[in-house]
This record gives sequence, C-alpha cells and structure tokens, in this order.
Amino acid sequence: MSTTHDQFLSANEAHQEAFSGRGLAAPPSRRVAVLTCMDARVDIYRALGLQIGEAHVIRNAGGVLTDDAIRSLTLSQRKLGTTEIAVIQHTDCGLENLDNEAVLAELEAATGSRPPWPIGGFSDVRNSVRASVAALRSDPHLIHVDAVNGYVYHVETGRLEPVGT
Ligand SMILES: [Zn+2]
Repeated sequence: MSTTHDQFLSANEAHQEAFSGRGLAAPPSRRVAVLTCMDARVDIYRALGLQIGEAHVIRNAGGVLTDDAIRSLTLSQRKLGTTEIAVIQHTDCGLENLDNEAVLAELEAATGSRPPWPIGGFSDVRNSVRASVAALRSDPHLIHVDAVNGYVYHVETGRLEPVGT
C-alpha cells in the first residue's frame, strides 16, 4: 500500500519535470503578504489569482494574528520588501466558537501540561478579522500599515468578502 510519503515523492517527480520556478527572486513580486487559515478547503493561490513567487502566504489554525504571524509579517516587510497585508479568515472555521479555556483544560487533563500558547479561538469571524487588521495597523514593528485589508473567504462558494473596519 502506498503511503503518503511515497505519494509525495512520486508527485514531486512530476513536479520537477514541469517545474517553472527557476530563477525567481525571493522577494514576492507583488509585494503582498497574506495571513490565512490552514483549512484544507482554502486554496489561497487560486482564490486570489496568485502565482508562485508573487506573495508570502502565512498560515495557521484560524488565520489568527499570533506572535509568530506578526514575526513573519515583520520579516516579510523589513527583509523581503512586501508593502501590503491581506488578512483572510473563512466561514465554517474550526476555530470559530471554540472554547479556548476548555481546550486548554482538555490538554492539561490529557497530558499533565498546560500549553504556553493561546488556542486562538474566536466568537465572530468578521470581528476577528477586524481586530487583526486594527492590531496590524498599529503594530510598532511593521513599516507599511496603510495597506492592511481584511476579508472573509466563503468555503461553500469561493467568494472573497471584504471586511471593512
Ligand atoms: Zn479555519
């Protein structure tokens, strides 16, 4: 039976044969960074019409503004020249209405250890996007905070809904 490991290596052989990314510069050519959720239904490149080499894509559970997301966005701007940020959360996210304290307690009960990181659950996806956009616009370490936009991606239709502040 073929394992995921084998499947990845096999698919990569085909990828190498069709590979077109040679010679691309590391700085994203469209100078944009996208923060979004790890959700398997969100094909962020197709949803936004992005090609390889054009954007930084930072993903985590929920597409929430963690310290590590801010770290990546800061390095994206200061070391790799991006000037715009898109924050994209989505409908039907597993993090929406997740009880942060209950998850922390569950982990602690199961393992004896309470994780030091926040779970990141939120109660309303649009408010979560607005809060992240507001926090980025006042972040002291970013250079470009005038072009930070927020959106909700609809997993059932593919629609990208702008979320005003
Ligand atoms: Zn999600």
